[in-house]
Amino acid sequence: MSKQILILPGDGIGPEIVAEAVKVLEQANQQFGLGVELSYDELGGGAYDKYGVPLADETLERARQADAILLGAVGGPKWDTIDPALRPERGLLKIRSQLGLFGNLRPALLYPQLAAASSLKPEIVAGLDILIVRELTGGIYFGSPRENRVLENGERQAYDTLPYSESEIRRIAKVGFDMARVRSKKLCSVDKANVLASSQLWRTVVEEVAKDYPDVELSHMYVDNAAMQLVRAPKQFDVIVTDNMFGDILSDEASMLTGSIGMLPSASLDARNKGMYEPCHGSAPDIAGKGIANPLATILSVSMMLRYTFNQGAAADAIEQAVSVVLDQGLRTGDIWSEGCQKVGTRE
Ligand code: ATP
Ligand code: MG
Repeated sequence: MSKQILILPGDGIGPEIVAEAVKVLEQANQQFGLGVELSYDELGGGAYDKYGVPLADETLERARQADAILLGAVGGPKWDTIDPALRPERGLLKIRSQLGLFGNLRPALLYPQLAAASSLKPEIVAGLDILIVRELTGGIYFGSPRENRVLENGERQAYDTLPYSESEIRRIAKVGFDMARVRSKKLCSVDKANVLASSQLWRTVVEEVAKDYPDVELSHMYVDNAAMQLVRAPKQFDVIVTDNMFGDILSDEASMLTGSIGMLPSASLDARNKGMYEPCHGSAPDIAGKGIANPLATILSVSMMLRYTFNQGAAADAIEQAVSVVLDQGLRTGDIWSEGCQKVGTRE
């Protein structure tokens, strides 16, 4: 049976980088006989322009039918002033939650060719290879009630809610342990259990799940310490599992250890490893349309798709290898360029 991939190029640099990633996907399709079929639709600002909403019902239905989704990026200044409920980013949150894509994998891998671009000293980051597993459909980004209000005394007040249920924690913990099992068998769970009730449950449930993974060494760390350890000695980590907000912050922090956000792919998976794959970076409106964006994060997202949704490890390895060869050749887009390298554009 053929594998259906829905391509959502999105806004800004999205269409430019996705076009290059699709070439790689088609090449892998031929070379490895993957049997993939591609179809296209809109998400984000382009969808708002075309359908009047950032995620049309028919697009969501197509996404449900597909085995995997490749997304560029959404958003841009053009849509900054529209009704907040119709902003491009709302389309992204909706597709993630509607498809139940709770498991967000964000590798932070330092290509040795790019060591000079890291914000840390070479001896601290050489060989860095971390995987952050972030819970993506729960926690404070989705919890209710949330409110902005004016108190009786006239003072303004706002609050959010950070709920996690046992089942939400258990399923993301399992993703963390499964990933650790096929890597170096070390999992660090990051929380704030000394302060937050949700984190206390998080820690308890992670401990329970650990009983099914006696071969994986589990540790716990408070998020403030984890933020510090990531810049002090990042190589102590292999797989980190954490909640939605902590994962958002720590994965951006980790991205700077690897040089450029233009290199970092991501996967968002449901319980059956159906997934949406996208670069970690945004739509980069400042460089959109110029043909200079780095397409490697999106190309590496295709590699993750082949590995996690389609179980095509050899094809995924081949793409990662090809990225490494291009870097060996000294070819660099502006974001990763350094002295002595050749500056090239997105298509090159
Ligand atoms: P979002 O809210 O969508 O995440 P953002 O404003 O936080 O957007 P990005 O769109 O990721 O951030 O851009 C941040 C900076 O990184 C910009 O200067 C952008 O040009 C640059 N950048 C992002 N992606 C790439 C890329 N693929 N190649 C080169 N530069 C990039
Ligand atoms: Mg951003």
